[in-house]
Amino acid sequence: MRLETDVARRAPFARGRFAPSTTGPAHPGTLLAALLCWLDARSAGAEVVLRLEDLDLDRTKPGYVDGLRRDLEWFGLEWDEVVLQSHARERHEAALVEWVREGRVYACECSRSEIRAAGRRAPDGSHTYPGTCRARRVTVGDWRNESQVLRLELPSGWIELRDETGADLSGDAAADFGDPILRRRDGAFSYHFVSVLDDAAERVDRVVRGRDLMPTTRLQVALRKLLGLSVPSYRHHCLFLERRGKKLSKLHGAVDIETLRQHYDAEGLCGRLAELVGLGETLTGSAGGLHCRPDDLVSGFDWAQVRSEDRALVWDGTRLISEIKDRS
Ligand SMILES: [Zn+2]
Repeated sequence: MRLETDVARRAPFARGRFAPSTTGPAHPGTLLAALLCWLDARSAGAEVVLRLEDLDLDRTKPGYVDGLRRDLEWFGLEWDEVVLQSHARERHEAALVEWVREGRVYACECSRSEIRAAGRRAPDGSHTYPGTCRARRVTVGDWRNESQVLRLELPSGWIELRDETGADLSGDAAADFGDPILRRRDGAFSYHFVSVLDDAAERVDRVVRGRDLMPTTRLQVALRKLLGLSVPSYRHHCLFLERRGKKLSKLHGAVDIETLRQHYDAEGLCGRLAELVGLGETLTGSAGGLHCRPDDLVSGFDWAQVRSEDRALVWDGTRLISEIKDRS
């Protein structure tokens, strides 16, 4: 008998979200992240929103948005609400204008190599922006015509932050990252900016995501504080990696869902992913491995059973095989 589980320790929440970028077909990493996020919400009796982050016009191709939505439905996940990030352009713009009005936004013409030359690494591996262009404030009348990147002057201040696993994410976001980009040169609003705005608009008070995003959590919290928003509870989970240790992604040759479908039905794939991270132990498998729907995993779901270590995931041509990654 377990007296205290991770489920029991979870702070109550009303709404979680799964927010994938729509830059390619689903792969095992996408499906794992969606499944964990969805189980976290459903097992707590909470709602869960699917937010399709389709602002990256260079990488979002026609068909990706609907394709991803259909893939997740095929996998057995249903949502309380589905939103397209691109539909909130007016709301994003209004938030930007508010900061412009407050005199917090400036145009930055630094190249990547100039920022790199300033020589400081940010916690996520990018380079800390040194604030070179801070004097170039934009106004409500002229920000729209500005062809350069727009940045926010972020007030410095220590943020004390732990996620639900106890990971210490504290730090001074302004000192660590420098002033964040709000709008890119191509006109698209930046990921952190709109992610924070959308979480607030969609009343999200619970964020579950891969641990590759841990280092930038304090930056999102700093933006939330500047907007006067409360801080959601955060939980970061293990990742599927490719053999050389990079996060599994389309870019790194992850097997895509079309190929997976030729070898697994939805229940077979859900069962396989559940097994790989330690879930579904109370369900009965068959010779071909565990078969289940996401729904079948809800009542027994407990974060304490989810493996915490990242795993390398290999596609051998017919099956997904996992290897424990040596992180040393
Ligand atoms: Zn600059």
